[in-house]
Amino acid sequence: MQRRYLDHAATTPIDPRVFEAMLPFLKEHFGNASSVHALGRRARVEVEACRERVAAHLGAEPAEIVFTSGGTEADNTAIKGVAGRDGAGLVTGLVTCAAEHEAVLRPAEALARAGVTVVVLDPAPHGAVTPAQLEAALTPDVSLVSLMHANNELGTVTPLAEVSAVCRARGVLLHTDAVQTAGLVPIDVDALGVDLLSLSAHKFYGPKGAGALYVRSGVELRALVEGGAQERRRRGGTENVAGIVGLAAALDLAVAEAGARRAHLTALRDRLLAGLRAALGDTFVLNTPVGTAEVVPHVLNIAFPPHDGRPLDGEMLLLNLDLEGVMASSGSACTSGALEPSHVLRALGLDRATAAAAVRFSPGKDTTEADIDAAVDAVARVVRRMRRR
Ligand code: PLP
Repeated sequence: MQRRYLDHAATTPIDPRVFEAMLPFLKEHFGNASSVHALGRRARVEVEACRERVAAHLGAEPAEIVFTSGGTEADNTAIKGVAGRDGAGLVTGLVTCAAEHEAVLRPAEALARAGVTVVVLDPAPHGAVTPAQLEAALTPDVSLVSLMHANNELGTVTPLAEVSAVCRARGVLLHTDAVQTAGLVPIDVDALGVDLLSLSAHKFYGPKGAGALYVRSGVELRALVEGGAQERRRRGGTENVAGIVGLAAALDLAVAEAGARRAHLTALRDRLLAGLRAALGDTFVLNTPVGTAEVVPHVLNIAFPPHDGRPLDGEMLLLNLDLEGVMASSGSACTSGALEPSHVLRALGLDRATAAAAVRFSPGKDTTEADIDAAVDAVARVVRRMRRR
């Protein structure tokens, strides 16, 4: 049976070109970038060259890039680092959104526990906070806003330039989690007007465990991970040189191939949606606002409302799809044995039963039309079978 991987928003396979670029730094160039000898200097030169390339792709300065272990650490560093880990630092109030990734929501909760005013806005029906909503939430004590560039479950893009204008008018810092947009939506920190921005290499065909945080010059950031002077004292720990090389190589490719990737993924997404509509009619709801709001092209989220009063078991749906060779996911998290419906879909106002019967398809740059057609057939077969029971 052919396996069809439609879960690229969860992670992507490493691009062979990225792997090749990393290999020398796992083998002969294994030095610690802090060592003064030749091997150490070789590693340092590479890390700094990567920093320059990553910065250039974002329209930033090299000194504004902090390499991290991934998106989660970048988000945590942005939120807790600007605030200070005890919440007693610069941030007096934080505004974020209920549809954010846990990597933002959990640190926000930590700040709230430490006494910081934290406002968690519900997204508008298309899945993002609007500039008007934000404006209304900006009380004088708010000093940081964290709103993601594209939502990982829905694909909705936040209009960051407009959001930034609202923040700038009040002197409020803006952080964005851009983990789902690199290589798909242009990321220029000045055009977007952001002060902090998180990236994760494994979402754009780079290695897992490598990420970056952009920190605008002049923004005060305390290290979340202490123990060394690396990354200008903003992130202690020996640099993951091969990971950093992989991140930079993957970002080079993502930027160079962005137009082609976008066009390919948009065509696949449209084919998938048309196929599902032809096969299943109006028995599902479309959670990704395709055609009505700006979205990233690699995410299509649908859900099945109860049929004749009977809910569809979302976990069984995914397991059955997997048995048919189709690997997709839902935003649901398994907590203590019970499947919790996605907090994002619940924040959109979906009822529990429908939110628990959601599927997120995310094709990738190497996905084919045949993969999409096979997925449509499998979904139609599985849903009909489950509804007959
Ligand atoms: N933020 C978003 C929007 C994500 O989709 C993910 C990945 O699941 C993360 C953060 C976490 O990134 P990482 O897996 O690199 O820690």
